[in-house]
Amino acid sequence: MNVYADHAATTPLDARVLEAMLPFLRERFYNPSSLYAGGFTVRRAIEEARALIAAYFGCAAGELYFTSGGTESVNLAVLGAVRAAGRKGRIVIGATEHHAVSETARALEKEGFSVAVVLCNAQGLITPEALEQSMDDRVVLVSVMWANNETGIIQPVAQLCNITRRHGALFHTDAVQALGSRRIRLDEIPVDLLSCSSHKIYGPKGCGLLFVRGNTQIAPIFHGGQQEKRLRGGTENPAAIIGFGKAVELLEAEREDRRTLQKTIARHFLKRILDIPGILYNSPQDSVIPGFVSLSIAGVESEPLLFHLGMQGVDASMGAACHSQVIEPSFVLRAMGVPESHIRGSVRFSYGKDSTLDEADHAAKALISVVGKLRKHIYENG
Ligand code: PLP
Repeated sequence: MNVYADHAATTPLDARVLEAMLPFLRERFYNPSSLYAGGFTVRRAIEEARALIAAYFGCAAGELYFTSGGTESVNLAVLGAVRAAGRKGRIVIGATEHHAVSETARALEKEGFSVAVVLCNAQGLITPEALEQSMDDRVVLVSVMWANNETGIIQPVAQLCNITRRHGALFHTDAVQALGSRRIRLDEIPVDLLSCSSHKIYGPKGCGLLFVRGNTQIAPIFHGGQQEKRLRGGTENPAAIIGFGKAVELLEAEREDRRTLQKTIARHFLKRILDIPGILYNSPQDSVIPGFVSLSIAGVESEPLLFHLGMQGVDASMGAACHSQVIEPSFVLRAMGVPESHIRGSVRFSYGKDSTLDEADHAAKALISVVGKLRKHIYENG
C-alpha cells in the first residue's frame, strides 16, 4: 500500500480540475489580450474564474490578482505594500512565518526597513497581546500567516488584523495553508492583503492569488505589460487560472465533508501512535487544520525516519527545512519551545480529501515499526 500523507506540501490535481483546464491547453490556446474571438473567449473564462473566486471570498472580482503562486503573492503583498507606503517604516511578522514572508522581510531590511518578529507562545500562537507590544507609529505592515505549514496551527487573524488597523498599518495574511480548510470571508475579516495558492487545494501548481482590499496602494514588483491592472505584467496562464477557479468551486461544494473526513483520519492515526514512548503531539489544540499531525519523537532523527517510512510506502514530511543537504531543526517548533531532545525527530503527516482510514492504519503501523527499529539500531550501535 502506498500512503500519501504530505498534502501540506502539495495536493494531487483533481481529475475534474484537469478536465476544466485541458481545452485551455489545446484548442483555446489564445492569448487573452488578443483582440479577436479566440482571445475574447479566453479572457471571458479568466474573468469567470476571478468572479467565482471573488464570490467564494466575499470580495469584488477587481480586488483579486492572479500570480504564479503563493510565494509571488506574498512577495507582491509585502514588497509592494511597504514600497508604496513611501517611507522606510517597520514591518512586523510572526515568528513562525513561511520563508516566503520571512525572507522577503529580510530583503526589505537590506533596503533600510526595520523588521520586528513577534514571538509565539507554547501553543504556537501569536497572541493579540504580543502583537500589541510590537506596534508603534513606525509600523507600515503586519504579516501573520493564517495557518502554519508545519503544525497546521491557526492564528487569531481577526483579532490581529483589528489591532493592526487600529494602529493605522496594513495587515497581510499568508493563507496558503488555510484556504483548503476553512471558510475565508473577506467581507467579515477586514484583512488588507491575503495570499493563497492553487496547488494546496487540488489545483495546478504555479498559480496563486493576491487579494488587495479596495484602494490599498501596492507597487508592482516586476515590470512589463498591462495585465492584472498593471500590477502583474506578463501573459496570464489561462489553463492554470481556470483550474484554480474549478478547484475553488469544488472546495466550496466539498469543504465540510473534507474537513470531517480529514479530522476523523487524523484522530484515528493519533490514537494508534500516541503510545509510542517519547512522542510529542505538537498541536493538540482545537484550532488546527483538519488532517494535520505534527509530531516530535525523542531518540530518532527525522531524515532516517522519513527514509524508512518511505521504504514502507508512507510519504510524510519533516518539520524542518532542508538546505544544501544540511538538515536544520525546525525553527517553528523551536519557537514553540519543543524540547531539543525531541526536535530533531520531527515529522509531519498531512492527510487529504481522498485519504482513508486504512491508509492511516498503515502509516501508524509503519511509524511504530520504524521508530522501534531506529531506536534499536542507535542502542546497538551507540
Ligand atoms: N506560504 C505557506 C504557508 C506555504 O505553505 C507555502 C508552500 O508550501 C507557500 C507560502 C508558498 O506557496 P507556493 O508553493 O505556491 O509558492
